[in-house]
Amino acid sequence: MSDYYTLLNVPRDAGEEQIKKAYRKLALEYHPDRNKGSKEAEERFKELTQAYEVLRDAEKRATYDRYGEQGLKGRAGSGGMGGIDFSDAIDVFMRDFGGFSGLEDVFGMRGGGRAQRTASRKTQTVRIRLPLTLAEVAHGVTKTLRVALLDECGSCNGSGAQAGTAPVACGACGGSGEERLVQRSVFGQFVSVQPCRACQGEGRVIDQPCGTCRGEGRARRETEIEVEVPAGVTSENFLTLRGRGSVGSRGGPRGDIVVLLEVEDDERFVRDGPDLIHELPITFGQAALGDEIDVPTIEGTARVTVPAGIQSGDLLRLKGLGLPELNGHHRGDQLLRVVLWTPDELTPEQEEALRNLRAVESTAPKHIRRRAHKGFWSRVKEAFSSG
Ligand SMILES: [Zn+2]
Ligand SMILES: [Zn+2]
Repeated sequence: MSDYYTLLNVPRDAGEEQIKKAYRKLALEYHPDRNKGSKEAEERFKELTQAYEVLRDAEKRATYDRYGEQGLKGRAGSGGMGGIDFSDAIDVFMRDFGGFSGLEDVFGMRGGGRAQRTASRKTQTVRIRLPLTLAEVAHGVTKTLRVALLDECGSCNGSGAQAGTAPVACGACGGSGEERLVQRSVFGQFVSVQPCRACQGEGRVIDQPCGTCRGEGRARRETEIEVEVPAGVTSENFLTLRGRGSVGSRGGPRGDIVVLLEVEDDERFVRDGPDLIHELPITFGQAALGDEIDVPTIEGTARVTVPAGIQSGDLLRLKGLGLPELNGHHRGDQLLRVVLWTPDELTPEQEEALRNLRAVESTAPKHIRRRAHKGFWSRVKEAFSSG
């Protein structure tokens, strides 16, 4: 693993804020949610988090500066023991940046997806991806999703023990669920408290596991959930359904469901905040003489008047035909970017007409003066509302 400072791309005297910012930026780039299934990204994400965990902690950082990674290895429970694991890395990210991968919770609750950690069990957050079309984004949509959740096992009522028996106190830890580890290193003796390995920190063990769930206390069940997606969302948003996820193992609390929104590309439009940009190819004849053209909008089609003398690259604006802002009242516009289309094949008749035109046409100016197309917006609006 390379140098922590190099990894995070910060100078050796970087301050806390700088380190945090650098980590967040890189971690978002390599976050598993944005790099579906890439082992490389996962590994990088882990390394970045490891570097961040050391450099954000003054004491660990000082040790690292003096002794390098080797120096951290002696520290029990320091997170420096040969690197943190992947799920720890995810937890670190969520702890410091709240919620999901730095995405934004649609309901405005930053940190909504934060994993809750009890002494020994983690509640599990169930994540589902929800693809959306631009048209769905324009109006908001209610979707029904099928999710496989873990529910309390019916045979043992979630205890994990066979009917008629009950879990007993763990012999290894005496029911405390904790195990103490003493380690020696160049820095002296370190004691760390870890969850008991015999009972996974639960303090209880099951002698006769339930036959249905094999002692898990949970069983998988498919269920349907309804999700209301507000208008104006982006792929940077997610929705948290609090306490609607899987139950924890052996009576643990129910986790959340996090719905990651994925707005599909629409080849007709490029999204620019609340505005939608559509490229409108026109012919030279249309540009020179003006025309009425039907263009696709998110609502269907609109008839627009292309004014005579329009230049390639000019923008026409269809007011209010963009997307609504999330949790706002403003609605964006649709912009038409006019592109002059040149035919690459000509009929003899067209060729003759163009030769005649070239004989009489004016030469192009050195600079194109863009005209404001005064009064054009109102004309478009009229055309739209009547058509
Ligand atoms: Zn059971
Ligand atoms: Zn134990």
